[in-house]
Amino acid sequence: MSEGAVAPRRTKQRAAIGALMEDLADFRTAQQVHEALREAGDRVGLSTVYRTLQAMAESGEVDVIRTADGESAYRSCRIHGHHHHLVCRSCGRTVEISGPDVEDWAAEIGRQHGFRDIGHELELFGLCADCAAS
Ligand SMILES: [Zn+2]
Ligand SMILES: [Zn+2]
Ligand SMILES: [Zn+2]
Repeated sequence: MSEGAVAPRRTKQRAAIGALMEDLADFRTAQQVHEALREAGDRVGLSTVYRTLQAMAESGEVDVIRTADGESAYRSCRIHGHHHHLVCRSCGRTVEISGPDVEDWAAEIGRQHGFRDIGHELELFGLCADCAAS
């Protein structure tokens, strides 16, 4: 394969993964994304899916959280910019949330200790109503 043939193929895979992520409502691990791609007939290697999702997370195209199992899970969020997630630890159902109180608290704690440019990551995990009922 010539050098020039590599990039378009990679771009195509990234486009396929990006399109799938747009369709998925909830956080999915690379393994789950890989399975969904296979079901859709896309033959993409698991390591490519990992790398692509990681790159998309770094560029802000998808959000990434760490699940209770310590795995990375990815989601294409409708909200751009800073926000948090409420995630069902059973089915993965996700609600995007903003927490003004948390933002104020984080800024205030930073101020008290003389820190600037405070960032934080906060995700809430629980059981959604459907999972709790079954
Ligand atoms: Zn998000
Ligand atoms: Zn659930
Ligand atoms: Zn926040």
